[in-house]
Amino acid sequence: MKVLFATGEAWPFVKTGGLGDVAYSLPKALKEKGIDVRVILPKYEQIPEKYRCGMEHLGHKKIWVSHYDAYVGIEQYKLEDVIYYFVDNMQYFARPKIYGEIDDCERFTFFSKAVVETFDLTGFTPDIIHCNDWHSALVPIYVRERGLTDIKTVYTIHNLRYQGFFPNIEIEETLEIDRAKYYQEDGLKYYDVISFMKGGVVYSDYVTTVSKSYADEIKTPEYGEGIDGLFRKFAFKLTGIVNGVDNTVFKASSEPKRSLKEKLQKKLGLNVDPDVPLVAIITRLDRQKGIDLITQAFDRMMGMGIQFVLLGSGDPYYESFFRCKESEYKGRVCSYIGFNQPLSIEIYSGADMFLMPSLFEPCGLSQMIAMEYGTIPIVRETGGLKDTVTPYNKYTGQGNGFSFIDPTPEVMLKILGYAIETYKNKKQWDMLIKHAKERDSSWNRPADEYIEVYRKVLNMRKP
Ligand code: ADP
Repeated sequence: MKVLFATGEAWPFVKTGGLGDVAYSLPKALKEKGIDVRVILPKYEQIPEKYRCGMEHLGHKKIWVSHYDAYVGIEQYKLEDVIYYFVDNMQYFARPKIYGEIDDCERFTFFSKAVVETFDLTGFTPDIIHCNDWHSALVPIYVRERGLTDIKTVYTIHNLRYQGFFPNIEIEETLEIDRAKYYQEDGLKYYDVISFMKGGVVYSDYVTTVSKSYADEIKTPEYGEGIDGLFRKFAFKLTGIVNGVDNTVFKASSEPKRSLKEKLQKKLGLNVDPDVPLVAIITRLDRQKGIDLITQAFDRMMGMGIQFVLLGSGDPYYESFFRCKESEYKGRVCSYIGFNQPLSIEIYSGADMFLMPSLFEPCGLSQMIAMEYGTIPIVRETGGLKDTVTPYNKYTGQGNGFSFIDPTPEVMLKILGYAIETYKNKKQWDMLIKHAKERDSSWNRPADEYIEVYRKVLNMRKP
């Protein structure tokens, strides 16, 4: 089975979010299971020099895009047994930003065309192209347009909020496809603009998203970002597969929690106290993450006798809120504004509880990472949070975390209170930690589920 994994980003070359992690870990896991999977992504200027220098030039050619001939070069790099192809065009990808350039529509149309038109340069003709998010959502359209009936397509949604919206005039000007055929409700049309993501959903052979609950939720107006009807219509080819965590990156140390917590408290300038519950959040400071619940409940949370640490950056309002709280609660609150992976691991290791009250969450990695480190998640029951955290039941002793449904500060506080009460009972808390650590968050099972999807599309009858 030959799979080409098309993505806008892949760690360690370039990463802005969860897609970057998946594009590194999933191909590696598939390769271990004997799938001949290769990854294709743009050759951005932001890719570190050490990788750029090691790339091998496979060739170049012209491809037709936006009414002119553009050069595409293909470079190859092998990392941990997986081959990566880089689509090279300086004009499109030597830019200050990876996404968010004024001509993103043209840049990623070019990329999508390059994916289906460079098999002669790579010498690799896939059975399946696995596309991801809006950046490669046009690939299924070009597979059809080029008459590549032997190639099947799978499309994965990592975050529905970013659909790749562009003016509808781009259909002729940039995409160069038939307006009558593609600019319709069951096509690219989204009100008066086009949504690349709709292309991926409508024209691919199978659609997946990154958790089972999110696959259900996006069929509702509350979570569907305006295309819930489309998901209901195409429910027959939609499924959810929960992401894994890369255990080579996030590996718990064998040191006892107590001493890791003490080290963390010292480092962050918190009062050293082994018995106070230490609650952490590590996140983008974005509304999506339910930060409003935390700001509204903050003083009441502190009134419950906890310590609090935040690692995050984003919305300036939230940033200044948490900075203020640090000075207000000296020795009890630490707000580290910024992105810092090594520090995140120290926090995951040393904290007792991990708070993640997201309003929506396609999958969520942080809660799974926290569990790996025996830090108990307190989450809202939505999307991947619901699929990965089983609420604790004090009567049966089952569960690996705490969860609540209503997105209100009061409900969140009540559950936090329940968590603190449980924390005081060492036997119960140790059992929770044991359950959290036991959860299998490896890529083994997700990789099997993707292979099952691949098998399914390969068995479909040709149109
Ligand atoms: P999302 O992809 O929506 O941001 P996820 O929970 O899926 O949320 O993934 C977030 C990832 O980014 C986790 O690995 C988390 O540890 C990491 N992360 C988020 N904020 C920071 C930060 N400020 N510093 C270090 N790591 C962070």
